[in-house]
Amino acid sequence: MMAAWSDNIRKVEPYVPGEQPKDTNVIKLNTNENPYGPSPRVAEVIQNPDLLRLYPDPTASQLVDVIAEYHGVDSSQVFVGVGSDDVLAMSFLTFFNSDKPILFPDITYSFYDVWAELFRIPYERPALDENFRLVKEDYYRENGGVVFPNPNAPTGIYENLANVEDIISHNGDSIVIVDEAYIDFGGKSALELIDKYDNLVVVRTFSKSRSMAGLRIGYAISNPILIKALNDVKYSYNSYTMNRPSIIMGTESVKDDAYFKAMVAKVVATRTRFVESIRPLGFTCLESSANFVFATHENIPAKEIFEAAKKAHIYVRYFDKPRIDNYLRISIGTDEEMDKFVEFLTGYVQSIQ
Ligand code: PMP
Repeated sequence: MMAAWSDNIRKVEPYVPGEQPKDTNVIKLNTNENPYGPSPRVAEVIQNPDLLRLYPDPTASQLVDVIAEYHGVDSSQVFVGVGSDDVLAMSFLTFFNSDKPILFPDITYSFYDVWAELFRIPYERPALDENFRLVKEDYYRENGGVVFPNPNAPTGIYENLANVEDIISHNGDSIVIVDEAYIDFGGKSALELIDKYDNLVVVRTFSKSRSMAGLRIGYAISNPILIKALNDVKYSYNSYTMNRPSIIMGTESVKDDAYFKAMVAKVVATRTRFVESIRPLGFTCLESSANFVFATHENIPAKEIFEAAKKAHIYVRYFDKPRIDNYLRISIGTDEEMDKFVEFLTGYVQSIQ
């Protein structure tokens, strides 16, 4: 018999992040990391061990201010957290407290349903259309909130801003979170709508375009009322979410815009080059505006390619889920890494056909 206390345990099925192999001798294209290091200004900060002795500023004001200045908003419009996962989780907790279901697409970032389950938020997942595009009309019904990434994950597809605005404007009674984890790699940000709609929250991360996944920095931009609500929840939970190295290194990253833009441009150029080089092998990629592509082969099952690549020490991501189980999500590495992957795929495809 199960102990009585077992009824009191919160039971959740956790999110499973992409594998972080112990073996360093792999080409790692499975978790959308940036292949280039962060700005050299970030590395300089590590030289100072005194950094770790003091508690951090609980408001992380240095980082908040520099992000606000970068985006041309007031500091009262910026909330920072431990990666955008933390910011999104806090946002679910803060904004999604209705009995009505929140809405997000059937194919999207697979953490959304995990947070909804964890916080016991009812949810519905309107299906993307057959081209994996958002059906904006599905979000016009009554709901307790809306969340979607733009560009979407794991498809990489960018939804134009007019459609995003339609969803925001049809949902005046609930909060709409636009998760822009990948926006720096393509597409127009919803940030320009921040002053127009009081129900909009835009979430960003330093993990992809800023090459700082290991440090864990994310942020939300909204109006001061919603940012205060987020901070109230944060201070009711943990005052020191942001550590001192993150605050200082994040600040340095934002200050080095030229380096940031150059690295993003390199990734985007490699993405185009990679898509073109696998097309002749029988692959089709959805049009990507992210630092990854979602690819399918005309006759070899994605799962087999995933497993064969892994044996060859090349890691990509495979989701064994309805509608996308014949696709591979391939993060964009350096040109050299992608060339090695193309070389592997060429040999593999020939050996099968
Ligand atoms: N949103 C989306 C759509 C993502 O793919 C990811 C990366 N797993 C995140 C948010 C979270 O990224 P991070 O916590 O590193 O900022």
